[in-house]
Amino acid sequence: MKITKHRQKILDALQQWFSTHKQGPTLEELCQELGMQPRQKATVQKWLQTMRDIDVEWDDHSARSLRLLTSEPEKPSLQLSVTDTLRYLATGVVQWEKLELEKRSQVPEALRIGMSRMYLTSLLRGEQAPENLPQFFDWAETSITSWKPAQEIKYLSPDVSVIEDGVVSDFAREWQVSGNDVVAQVQESVLKDVLEYCRGNQLEDAYRAFRLLIISKPTLHYSEYRQQLRLPELKPLRELLSRLEIYVDMDKLAEGSVYHLCPRCTYLQRQRPDGTYTCRNPWCERLCATSNFQPLPPISKEKAADWKAVTPGVHLYGTLPGIWEIQLQEELTKLGLRVTLWPFVDEFDLLVEFPPKVRWAIDFKDWASVDEERLRKVQYRRDATETFVVFPDEREDYLRIKVVREQLEPELEGVRLRLFSEIITQAQAILGKKK
Ligand SMILES: [Zn+2]
Repeated sequence: MKITKHRQKILDALQQWFSTHKQGPTLEELCQELGMQPRQKATVQKWLQTMRDIDVEWDDHSARSLRLLTSEPEKPSLQLSVTDTLRYLATGVVQWEKLELEKRSQVPEALRIGMSRMYLTSLLRGEQAPENLPQFFDWAETSITSWKPAQEIKYLSPDVSVIEDGVVSDFAREWQVSGNDVVAQVQESVLKDVLEYCRGNQLEDAYRAFRLLIISKPTLHYSEYRQQLRLPELKPLRELLSRLEIYVDMDKLAEGSVYHLCPRCTYLQRQRPDGTYTCRNPWCERLCATSNFQPLPPISKEKAADWKAVTPGVHLYGTLPGIWEIQLQEELTKLGLRVTLWPFVDEFDLLVEFPPKVRWAIDFKDWASVDEERLRKVQYRRDATETFVVFPDEREDYLRIKVVREQLEPELEGVRLRLFSEIITQAQAILGKKK
């Protein structure tokens, strides 16, 4: 039989399919694999007929009986990277969360690929893996390492899961693959827009004022919002901020008769299915539970109509990481050091200056797991005495920085990994010596 384009396409699609599935595809699924519309089913069926008994065979009365007859051509590579599989799953879950409720039966492409790879990896090793969406979501709430292949990943704590308390975990957000190689840290496009605008126009002070605003006041009364935008530092960004809708009307973000704010990050809380309120970020919620934050007074629906709030994406990628940066800045400033937040329009997070000549460049990472690839992206600063990546002590149980840095630091070309408390101690030591 002559090799037509169609024939090769179908053979390729089927080989691909059988690399991750035990049963054959339905006609609809085959259309999808071929990048065709379901209404082109008849065409695909016609092509299949011409290949019947030569390349393919099926049983007319049973679904999913389509199979390949040709002797196995080159086997697709069975070496599936577990790291890549987890990245697909993380990306898929984040995409899935963005779907409106009624569309959640559609599985995003990345999740489909991730689940197939997960299944195949386990199949090849004679192990178990989730086989369908409900099973997958059950697994997603448990430890990632309960899927055995994941135990091979370096620096992955058994305490992280893909979904936590019903929402996408920090781990999944960190591991998702952003479309183009957007500055990996800036995952919210409006934040990237502000950053680029400020870089392009050298608006270092305006950028700093903007960051401080979204970190310290992710929710605020409209009169205060107006007042902030009138500040001279923020003036150059006024138009851009309203065009990008960094802040929206708070009552657009939640329904209900009353609005609760998280006592730690002061952002609008979400209501759990059981009626209780928690921070939208499970990690922030855990920090609330272990610290002594006083609950904030709830805001009634009528009053909430006069409030503004940053969007959930800005809260997640702007407010939450920023809380740590400001906390570190405050602690170091208390020691009498000069600290600049986001110097050179955010080339890194904190510049710490010890007179006369010592300068530290610090990047703060509130990560759920140590990601070697992303650590390598932190540039060693030749204009600083030391370049540090700093992690919160509260994450040390998962990150084990004190242990893993021995293996990691030699690969990082001078960049050192420290905990928040270690930075403070090291700064005190330098200051102590001088006295
Ligand atoms: Zn919070």
